[in-house]
Amino acid sequence: MTIYADNAATTQLSDKAFSAMLPLMKEHYGNPSSLHHIGQKAKEYVEDCRERCARAIGAQPSEIFFTSGGSEADNQAILSAAYFGASKGKKHIISSKFEHHAVLHTLDKLKSEGFEITLLDVYKEGIVRADDVEKAIRDDTALVTIMTANNEVGTLQPVEEIGKICKEKGVPFHTDAVQAVGHIPVDVNKINCDLLSVSAHKFHGPKGVGLLYCRKGTVLKSLINGGAQERNKRAGTEYTYGIAGMTAALEEAINNIDKNSSKVSALRDKIINGVSDIEKSFVNGDLKRRLPGTVNMCFEGIEGESLLLLLDQYGICASSGSACTSGSLDPSHVLLAMGVPVAVAHGSLRISLSEYNTEEEADIIIESIHKVVTYLRSISPVWEKIQKGEVVE
Ligand SMILES: *Cc1c(COP(=O)(O)O)cnc(C)c1O
Repeated sequence: MTIYADNAATTQLSDKAFSAMLPLMKEHYGNPSSLHHIGQKAKEYVEDCRERCARAIGAQPSEIFFTSGGSEADNQAILSAAYFGASKGKKHIISSKFEHHAVLHTLDKLKSEGFEITLLDVYKEGIVRADDVEKAIRDDTALVTIMTANNEVGTLQPVEEIGKICKEKGVPFHTDAVQAVGHIPVDVNKINCDLLSVSAHKFHGPKGVGLLYCRKGTVLKSLINGGAQERNKRAGTEYTYGIAGMTAALEEAINNIDKNSSKVSALRDKIINGVSDIEKSFVNGDLKRRLPGTVNMCFEGIEGESLLLLLDQYGICASSGSACTSGSLDPSHVLLAMGVPVAVAHGSLRISLSEYNTEEEADIIIESIHKVVTYLRSISPVWEKIQKGEVVE
């Protein structure tokens, strides 16, 4: 038996997405740049998908640029705004301490090129304050980039307020909406963002495809040299079947968003309540302002890695944080940014659900967490110290 509870890392492809991909693989396999009929048929598909993806987030088709996923969209958005700003003498960027590494590492690169980066606090709740954004904006601010929803703890950021402030101040605003799109309503005009990143495999679409929304009038720089695809902004033959799969998955997610969100959030809350009797354990981040499916908990006195491996033996796939950091033993930069002590941050567990999960699975998750935490604490010298009231570093 397998219980997949790691949907913030990636999701299972939906049947609708899978079916939408097949015709482009087998029949309409042309290159959209070819002038013959089979190429033009593929081009028709891609342009139809562009329109449908645009509609799904309240954008115009000309504002959609297909990419290889969320990481590429983040890189392109941030580098474009940064270099455009620099050409006007603006080399200051505002972001937060707990962005995805696709954002933070791009900012590191810009820092090494002489940009000044302000990383805002996210507080215990795991939420950036719009006031802080307003205070941090300077005459030389080239970009504000704040995620819509955090991938490790699931907290939602006040992107509409931030977008409004940025618009008033005339500062470009990018939001990494990879965890949000398909899970909560996302509309680029409500958010007032200039740039927004999306990735298909976080809403039951295929891996290796995403999109960058770029508001009309915002300058976009091409990162890949080559052909004239995506109106000269993204070279490389279009990933036609990926784009078709993403579009089908996005429409399916959005058509069912209310139904899925109430189902998934009920399962999430069931798990939160079901493990709340475990002593010295707590949920990270604001309990209300969060994604329907994501919860991140800490259990003092144990290692997240051991927790994960034992849960895996019960068939449960979860995570200790983001997929990118769970290969390393460093505690999560997200939890540290939220002020969780290092020793405690080591005992973190992220459960991220989707509408494919069931009540029975939630019950098994609750029961297994109890068993595993009890067992690990029974063999943990650190837990012994905690019980004696000794301070653990
Ligand atoms: C998964 C994720 C990304 C990266 O998207 P890929 O398509 O895997 O490159 C970026 N940002 C957030 C918040 C994510 O959760």
